[in-house]
Amino acid sequence: MTQLAFIKAFNKPLLSSLERLGIRDLQGLLLHLPLRYIDETRVTPIRDVRTGESVQIEGMVVHAEVSYKPRKTLIARLEDAGAQITLRFLNFYPSQIATLSVGNRLRVYGEVRHGYFGYEMVHPACKKVGEVTTVAETLTAIYPTVSGVGQSLVRKAIRIALEQGDLEESLPEEFYQKLHLPRFEQSIRTLHHPPPEFDLQALENKTSVYWRRLAFDELLAQQLSMRKHYAKRRSVSAPKFTPSQQLVPALLKSLPFALTAAQQRVSLEIEQDLTQPHPMRRLLQGDVGSGKTIVACMAAMQSIESGWQVALMAPTEILAEQHYRKMLTWLSPLKVEIAWLTGSQSKKEREVTLANIRNGVAQLVVGTHALFQEAVQFKNLGLAIIDEQHRFGVHQRLALRQKGQLEPHQLMMSATPIPRTLSMSYYADLDVSVIDELPPGRTPIMTKLISDIRRDEILQRVREACVQGSQAYWVCPLVEESEALQLATAQDTFTLMQAAFPELSIGLVHGRMKPADKQAVMLAFGAGKLQLLVATTVIEVGVDVPNASLMVIEHAERMGLSQLHQLRGRVGRGAAQSTCILLYQNKLSETARARLKVIYESNDGFAIAQADLNIRGPGELLGIRQSGVPMLRIADLTRDVDLLEAAKSIAKGLLQQYPQAVERHLERWMNRADELVKV
Ligand code: ADP
Ligand code: MG
Repeated sequence: MTQLAFIKAFNKPLLSSLERLGIRDLQGLLLHLPLRYIDETRVTPIRDVRTGESVQIEGMVVHAEVSYKPRKTLIARLEDAGAQITLRFLNFYPSQIATLSVGNRLRVYGEVRHGYFGYEMVHPACKKVGEVTTVAETLTAIYPTVSGVGQSLVRKAIRIALEQGDLEESLPEEFYQKLHLPRFEQSIRTLHHPPPEFDLQALENKTSVYWRRLAFDELLAQQLSMRKHYAKRRSVSAPKFTPSQQLVPALLKSLPFALTAAQQRVSLEIEQDLTQPHPMRRLLQGDVGSGKTIVACMAAMQSIESGWQVALMAPTEILAEQHYRKMLTWLSPLKVEIAWLTGSQSKKEREVTLANIRNGVAQLVVGTHALFQEAVQFKNLGLAIIDEQHRFGVHQRLALRQKGQLEPHQLMMSATPIPRTLSMSYYADLDVSVIDELPPGRTPIMTKLISDIRRDEILQRVREACVQGSQAYWVCPLVEESEALQLATAQDTFTLMQAAFPELSIGLVHGRMKPADKQAVMLAFGAGKLQLLVATTVIEVGVDVPNASLMVIEHAERMGLSQLHQLRGRVGRGAAQSTCILLYQNKLSETARARLKVIYESNDGFAIAQADLNIRGPGELLGIRQSGVPMLRIADLTRDVDLLEAAKSIAKGLLQQYPQAVERHLERWMNRADELVKV
């Protein structure tokens, strides 16, 4: 890989500018691709411009003025062959006033709009030109950049990279020919400098074959890297557990229900993995309420029976506490030693727990992030179970510590179903099990979309439900801009509810509460001592109170679809008919309406997640953005599904047949993102 510092044309200031764009070598420059293009290859006569088109025009300034009403504006008229157009600037520098002086000849690029005085351009790019002018030979690329690093600088650096960089094919060409994709060199050159006749649309929406070629390369690099990780994991040793003879059968016998067929199937998949001498990395997916906890518990029993400790981790204290209680009821009769570890314990309690984890007395340790801390040393950790894994971010490195040499197995659980394309890409190094069936006897949740205007009516419904012995959640709006504001809203709502329903016992739970207080509220709600629970979205994950059958979600339009689906899953856990009311503010935008419609019409977590992926992209859906896993930059999992399939299908063969070419390919694509995934 050629470092830029070794190339003469790159002086210090240029190098440090590129460094700020994250570019360190020629490959990085070649793959620094345009955001969009402008067409400066021709000059459109002013009389021919059309509304909505972005065009380059040329003409003489015949009028210019700065007016102050209604606000400071620079207005100029540009004339060419008798036709005129208005140029308008709301923010401008003295230098722009000079450029726009009457009598100057200007080359102007901008989007044509229909304004008050006929055609106009707002904030067009203007430069002064002489009588005889030339036009660009190729479309002009506009690059992603940061403030202080100008387009011309980036263009200059890329021109050098195109002269000196490595544009050879990294892989045998036959693969690309089969897919009807152009060569790497041709794709890179075309995308940086498209010829004038090029279809701008296909370039900008990335459906052009040149973009597709690079999208394919990127997806292929991801597949190859995932496969390598997978193979690497197979070469690491983990403890082998035999299938459980005692604990699991005893546990199943004590349950008031029988496992569903789906639960049985995934339990077997996990049991099999755990008999292998390599660390399991399995993602257990299942819609909210599908019964993942018992499946995880069975895996834990297999580990414990084989003499290995288990860590069960949840993203919130509420959820960890709930798991702890459930494990106590299920496992105390089986004499399993369970420990509990969170950030809010007293020092003394904590020390006892830590000692028990260290000396192996604690067989199952339930807790929050606290399990990751330095002080937590396991004697022999055999299995780590991570609930609501998406909350931790994709593939967050597990820093669980123990003395031994063997790597623990990992079971990750997620109730945000992962659309197929995502599990094929970002999750390709994991094995996936899916519980695709809900336990019997659940009545589907009825979802209603109701305008906030009918709030009083909804309040009455809440009251009725509670008076009749059921319980309800009132979920306060998400206020992304400010947590403090969100808290204030929740507190206000709580006060309002107390005033409106003096006869009901009402609780409040939010993320800023002390863990002990939060627990107390959740326990009281779980035990039926509170009838109505006012909550922020902290109750989104995992909370299980079967008697709650009504949920009202305020400002539903502000929430992500998967988040709404998760929230809604807090009801419909018992036999009673449950209802979820989505309150929205009037005047929904088109997209907001379309999104709420998805939630209204579908109870299928997978369909909802797919819609969420289409609308918001993978980063938002899976918390990838926070976790530091590099995002695909060129490929789009919705647009390029066919390329993803193709990449997946050839990755394995390539690794076996052309290991060196694979390394070259990975070096080209992965240098910006050292590691795609951490094992
Ligand atoms: P999730 O998959 O959302 O984590 P849980 O594991 O919390 O779901 O299970 C939801 C509820 O369903 C729990 O009360 C659990 O005990 C119960 N449950 C799990 N499996 C079954 C089953 N096969 N039949 C009936 N109830 C079940
Ligand atoms: Mg759960």
